[in-house]
Amino acid sequence: MHPAQGFCYRAILRVKPLTGYTIRQAWIASETGYDTVDVQIEGGRIANIAPQLDPVGIVVDGRDKLLLPGFVNAHTHSSELWQRGAILPYPLELWLAELYDFAPADPEQVYLSAIGTAVETLLSGGTTVVDHLTIMPGQELETIGAAVKGYREAGIRAFVAPLIQDQSLPSSIPTGGTVQVYEPYARTAQETLEMMSEAIAQFHRPDDGIYIVMAPTGPQLCSDELFAGCNELSDRHGLCRHTHLLESKAQKLLAEEKYGCTAVEYLKRLEFLGPRTSLAHCVWLNDHDIQLLAATQSTVVHNPLSNLRLGSGIAPILKYRQAGVNVTFGCDGSASNDSQDLLEAIKIGSILHNVTDFDYRHWITPRQAVSMAALGGATGLGMQDQIGSLDVGKLADLVLYDLTSLSLLPRTDPIGLLVLGRPVQAVHSAWVGGRQVIADGNMTTVNVHQLRQELFARSQWAVDRQSPTRDALEARYRSVMGLQGD
Ligand SMILES: [Zn+2]
Repeated sequence: MHPAQGFCYRAILRVKPLTGYTIRQAWIASETGYDTVDVQIEGGRIANIAPQLDPVGIVVDGRDKLLLPGFVNAHTHSSELWQRGAILPYPLELWLAELYDFAPADPEQVYLSAIGTAVETLLSGGTTVVDHLTIMPGQELETIGAAVKGYREAGIRAFVAPLIQDQSLPSSIPTGGTVQVYEPYARTAQETLEMMSEAIAQFHRPDDGIYIVMAPTGPQLCSDELFAGCNELSDRHGLCRHTHLLESKAQKLLAEEKYGCTAVEYLKRLEFLGPRTSLAHCVWLNDHDIQLLAATQSTVVHNPLSNLRLGSGIAPILKYRQAGVNVTFGCDGSASNDSQDLLEAIKIGSILHNVTDFDYRHWITPRQAVSMAALGGATGLGMQDQIGSLDVGKLADLVLYDLTSLSLLPRTDPIGLLVLGRPVQAVHSAWVGGRQVIADGNMTTVNVHQLRQELFARSQWAVDRQSPTRDALEARYRSVMGLQGD
């Protein structure tokens, strides 16, 4: 069924007028410990925070609960949900070949995986998602429309970043000095930019929590012309910019072959970097590259689970922080993680770096991790004045954690255990722009039981599948990466 034809979980909350809430006696982090406060939500924003307030609107019992700003799942690809768990251990370039061979072909799948991504993000503390959305050739606007519909229904704040490129997949592998001839990509840069103009006109609705992002796949698959066009549309419409950057060693080699400089220097020359530019992965940067990110106030999105899963490497996150680069976390797509548990990404993304620097004073504390996930994510989207902290006047993107959850007991340090533990069913309530999307641990916007049935019915076991594109690329990949055998 086409997503425009009414298959719909529940879009009621989006059109309802905003209700006021008073969260009573919730724990919030103070400078040195925790305080209990009342928090009023009115008109979609945090209206008041004080030890005691007269209740307005619906009263929510905040006792024995921790209130935090919602986190940002700052890099994912929602439709990979359909392939999670399916791809065997391969490095990025070969993994991607298999991913492309089995990409969903029906916008209805994109709609369902957007809802699934939103639900898992919300239930693990995220209230905003950045979806670097794979779009189907010939059905570009339908794909974007399907994801937007899913996110609106789920009620999550969504930065929808259509994944655009104008070069074909084999050109993402270094040539190693050999002569390679590539098929032209399905769309030219010009056609892609025209499609994006239309997508902006149809779907960019910041007041409704839906933001279109200019998001070329990465320097490995995009021309100068496409990057320049993205800059132009981003400037004209005030849109964020997003791309993959130096995720794999192969991409580092390719940038040197293709541009004669690092990929960061290349993006700097193209004027793509800046305070509203977020860069996924950033594993293979040198010290000069790091200085360029700091100088341009660009944001690094750390995707630790994907980097481990694909053997991409460990991003030098502690170096970024010491250089003053803003860093936040992403789950990355579900086929390279293979989950959308944001708390898990925050945990691994924090403690992973303890093995990279012997000086424990550089390690990331749980409170720093929470700030990176909330305010750091907001900053990368130019939203630091709107979301990311508990401040009066900000949009009410809030999450209330149940401190009586078995996984958060006994009572030690709530934020310490939330980040370093393994929280299970810990989110009690969540609001996005003042709309409650989780209550009593359950989604209020999505019928999760029905979603589970849909995902089950529309999929099948996918073991031992063959990937012709991967087979075609593997010999060159092994050769240029210096691996034995073909
Ligand atoms: Zn990605």
